[in-house]
Amino acid sequence: MTSLPGRLVLIGHPVSHSLSPTFQNAALRHAGLPLTYEALDVPPGRLERAAAWLRTSNAAGNVTLPYKEAFLASCARLSPIAERVGAVNTFWCEDGALVGDNTDVGGFEEAIVRAFGSDRRWPRVALIGAGGAAAAVLAGAERWFGTEVRLWSRTAGRAESLARRFARICTTVPTVHDALEGADLVVNATPLGLAPDDALPVPIQDLPPRAAVYDLVVRRGDTAWVRAARGAGHPAADGLGMLVAQGALSFERWFGQAPDRDAMWSALRP
Ligand code: NAP
Repeated sequence: MTSLPGRLVLIGHPVSHSLSPTFQNAALRHAGLPLTYEALDVPPGRLERAAAWLRTSNAAGNVTLPYKEAFLASCARLSPIAERVGAVNTFWCEDGALVGDNTDVGGFEEAIVRAFGSDRRWPRVALIGAGGAAAAVLAGAERWFGTEVRLWSRTAGRAESLARRFARICTTVPTVHDALEGADLVVNATPLGLAPDDALPVPIQDLPPRAAVYDLVVRRGDTAWVRAARGAGHPAADGLGMLVAQGALSFERWFGQAPDRDAMWSALRP
């Protein structure tokens, strides 16, 4: 988009613990843009009303849990990648209508490179979880060369319908152990790890030797799974890299200029 939006908001429920306003406002200040990024809690059942307000406010912003899929229906136009994923995490207004995009895919790809280097290839990926974030991981992995994904999730039907949408690269497997067999990269796309007493998404002793571990969950000071995997010698990173990268890509969509990523990262340091 070219002109500045009227508001810049994150919509979700609840959004009180989101880190996005912290790093987006640092990027806005650094760029000298006269806007504040605000988190807007949208209670269940109020998404349509919120979407109408976004249109009349000429707003731009991000969408987070639990509305990324539901927000598709509020958009007059979608980017090809938002259509592929089936979820919107970034939007803006054009001629009074909402346009939906998805930067989780690019954010995931950037985060993998940041965490593990640009020269690694991922012939076999184990993906745990089958929600919107898993769809973004699959949309990223299908852009990689020669990657095969084994998907496992606790609700087999949901995993199977996601795998059908990405059938060229993805198959479901009956157990988490089948997913892990021979994996170079193990990705957690469940919320396990958000709460301090959550079980680990995959027991550390079951990880294939030398497999890299990427946890989409974000927790200050790393998730327990990432800490334990590192302790056992696996390269491992949590979802903060993806969160910042998807936010930086969203910033580029809204303003046509890249944000200062150092400013974004500095704002997150304790
Ligand atoms: P979602 O659509 O609700 O899907 C969650 C998936 O995890 C589903 O397959 C669900 O299985 C499974 N799951 C939920 N609770 C579980 C449990 N206790 N044990 C095992 N499996 C469980 O959520 P999402 O949007 O995909 O997000 C998943 C996670 O990724 C969230 O923690 C989110 O914060 C994170 N995320 C991070 C970023 C980032 O930038 N770092 C971006 C997007 C998402 P069922 O189908 O059986 O319910």
